[in-house]
Amino acid sequence: MSDTPHESPFLASVDPEISALIEAEELREAEKLRMIPSENYASPAVRKATGSVLTNKYSEGYPGRRYYEGQQIADRVEEVAAERARDLFGVEHANVQPYSGSTANLAIYLAFLNPGDTVMGMSLPMGGHLTHGWGVSVTGKWFNAVRYGVKPETGRVDLDEVRALAKEHRPRIIFCGGTAIPRIIDFAAFAEIAEEVDALLVADVAHISGLIVGGVHPSPAGYASVISTTTHKTLRGPRGAMLLSDVEYAGALDRAVFPGLQGGPHDNTTAAIAVALHEASQPDFKDYARRIVADAKVLAESLIERGFDLVSGGTDNHLILIDLTSKGVPGKPVAKALDRAGIVVNYNTVPFDPRKPFDPSGIRLGTPALATRGIGPEEMPRIAGWIDEVTEATRRGDEDTLDRIRGEVREFALEFPPPGFAEECSRLALERST
Ligand SMILES: *Cc1c(COP(=O)(O)O)cnc(C)c1O
Repeated sequence: MSDTPHESPFLASVDPEISALIEAEELREAEKLRMIPSENYASPAVRKATGSVLTNKYSEGYPGRRYYEGQQIADRVEEVAAERARDLFGVEHANVQPYSGSTANLAIYLAFLNPGDTVMGMSLPMGGHLTHGWGVSVTGKWFNAVRYGVKPETGRVDLDEVRALAKEHRPRIIFCGGTAIPRIIDFAAFAEIAEEVDALLVADVAHISGLIVGGVHPSPAGYASVISTTTHKTLRGPRGAMLLSDVEYAGALDRAVFPGLQGGPHDNTTAAIAVALHEASQPDFKDYARRIVADAKVLAESLIERGFDLVSGGTDNHLILIDLTSKGVPGKPVAKALDRAGIVVNYNTVPFDPRKPFDPSGIRLGTPALATRGIGPEEMPRIAGWIDEVTEATRRGDEDTLDRIRGEVREFALEFPPPGFAEECSRLALERST
């Protein structure tokens, strides 16, 4: 199979430098436990489509309404992708062209707002996304952004605050969803508030769309006017995004994506999105989604047993946010130490964080990539143990412990090959033991 490692003779002979870097990344992804909750392992089939000849095509416009000829295949590819998206999410319209999640969200602004209009979203340090009106983003600079957060006592979205702010500021759009929310999003409650103030509700489910189609998180379909999602997080597809809606909003969204914001769609990505949607419609994807959540729940319990302070006291989904304040060490050094020990997470602000975003109090971790490798709940106490040891070692400045754990993690990780890397992992495991 040409998508297994060390079998890219064309790339290696044309560009040995980049070829070697890609092989090094393959090794990193096999040897380490990747626990950044927005990352995953796309299947060999998804990667194949991403690297296909469709990267050669230009298709500005939409199927049947293109500005270039030669669309016999590209039209079909996009139609299949959009149809699969509509079926899987139970919506009337799908635009599969946004280059990524941020661009998809910008298209929503362009479709429904004018600069200066009011938009409401969750504050970034509380768990929201940059594009929901945070100040450094164009969405916070060119629009009047109002931000809600979580309750200090519960760490959960403060719906009373959402309602009060909505009534006071009358936003045109309300975003729900975010990047560091460990709990179920109450789409019905948000829809009620949006209706009360006559705002458009946008559900940004970038992180959780795989959980939604896998049946382990409620769907925003029927509640949100527009659903925005990336395709590369729990959905396990290529880097990309989709906008889903009723037909009522289809024209405005389509015009905003093209020609409003983008040029030609990435047809290779569109094909890979179609493949990922096909995979996500198979029965075993439901097992996958259940495993993500089961893993996260056991990991959360094991961390709590070890004295870790979890924002909101646990998790309902794929994501855990740890406030390390009580451990006496900030997020950044722990994230760096974990990486050295073979466990890759990101440092993250926690709600009401007294520290700076570039040196915050927490780390954010998740189980989507582990679950893709088949790592199940029974393995989570061991991973919690390593995280605990690394946290303690960071406080002591004990690098030997990190290097010892790195060896243990590597041996463990290679027993769970990422999709398409079984042979490679056996070879690597042997290399070490002989
Ligand atoms: C990841 C994410 C995005 C942005 O996606 P990119 O593909 O990185 O642009 C938008 N919204 C939310 C909630 C996200 O988690």
